[in-house]
Amino acid sequence: MYDSIVIGCGFAGAVVARELAEKKKRVLIIDSRSHIGGNCYDRKDEYGILIHQYGPHIFHTNSERVYRYLSRFTEWYPFRHEVVGKIGEKELPIPFNLNTLEMVYGERAPELEKKLISSFGEGARVPILELMNHPDDELQEIAQYVYENIFLKYTMKQWGKSPKEIDPAVSGRVPVLLSRDNRYFQDRFQGIPLHGYTEIFQKMLDHDGIDIRLNCQGTDVLSLDPEGDVKVWFEGNPFHGDVIFTGALDEFFGCRYGRLPYRSLDFHFEHYEKPFYQSHAVVNYTVSEEFTRITEFKYLSGQLDMEDTTIVKEYPKAYSGSEGEIPYYAINNPENDALFEKYKALVVQIPGFYLLGRLAEYKYYNIDAIVERALDLAERV
Ligand code: UDP
Repeated sequence: MYDSIVIGCGFAGAVVARELAEKKKRVLIIDSRSHIGGNCYDRKDEYGILIHQYGPHIFHTNSERVYRYLSRFTEWYPFRHEVVGKIGEKELPIPFNLNTLEMVYGERAPELEKKLISSFGEGARVPILELMNHPDDELQEIAQYVYENIFLKYTMKQWGKSPKEIDPAVSGRVPVLLSRDNRYFQDRFQGIPLHGYTEIFQKMLDHDGIDIRLNCQGTDVLSLDPEGDVKVWFEGNPFHGDVIFTGALDEFFGCRYGRLPYRSLDFHFEHYEKPFYQSHAVVNYTVSEEFTRITEFKYLSGQLDMEDTTIVKEYPKAYSGSEGEIPYYAINNPENDALFEKYKALVVQIPGFYLLGRLAEYKYYNIDAIVERALDLAERV
């Protein structure tokens, strides 16, 4: 009775489900959790503060198409996201930019600024690993400072490895920025959904053509053809429609080639009977502590008049696959990517079986990239 089955109810799955339903398909979307929204799920805590249950999600994009699409389902709280790194008593703007340079180098800053700009150009976004390779001694000195004070310890916590040992694209997400823009993202459009992310999902999935099933694993409803033909079965019968799979592919196949490595996180929420806990929505602990960052939610939700506050500390860890643990980040390197390709080979032969999203594609996507890919996929299906 369904034309399409969507596994996973985060942005990837929800956008595809909506788009297919609008094309008159009958869609079933399932999720293993008890709620919609995937890792973007947010809710009011017992104190009435809107928290992001799975860590801070700040929407930003240069894509007008994505911004317009999501704006069908929400208005925006125009949040200006600035992050500081807590280094001793100092709070330095991150990404490291020309303001940070001035705070660190004082009188030497104007000369250093000239040198940086003549090497890379005004407004350039320079990956730290690239700056470290610059032949000039003074630029190397800056690079070393940034590496040691912004990247090394944070990355060791987050990934269990140094920035030099992980995919360079990861540290490249937070470049050295040759401007005085203290924002974390420079994208054209940015903000937080005015009434939260969960409401976007409620609206997106509120369509006659969509059925939602929660607390349901992909393997509860889907199985591969027992005869070995490359067909998918839905609840015990051959299924000829489309399957859009956004979950962890290794787990769908019982980890038959071994587990795909992911990083996970423990979130420790704390509530304080005072108006504010810290100076910014997100403070990164780049040289100390076991957690990577603290998020104070009232900045994100705009609940600035409340007299108390809720924060969350993020403690990274390896993903082991045990009950209740969540795989947040793919660990892209040649070995893991090759393992992923082995799993992918199991499904590329299945007609109408599509992989989409951070987990299913084993990639580090932002929300906007996922939405864009979901829109493209829905056009192709
Ligand atoms: N990073 C860092 N120090 C920082 C911020 C980021 O070392 O203060 C590195 C770290 O390796 C992190 C990566 O840059 O995993 C990407 O950071 P981003 O803020 O994009 O991570 P996300 O918010 O997606 O977890």
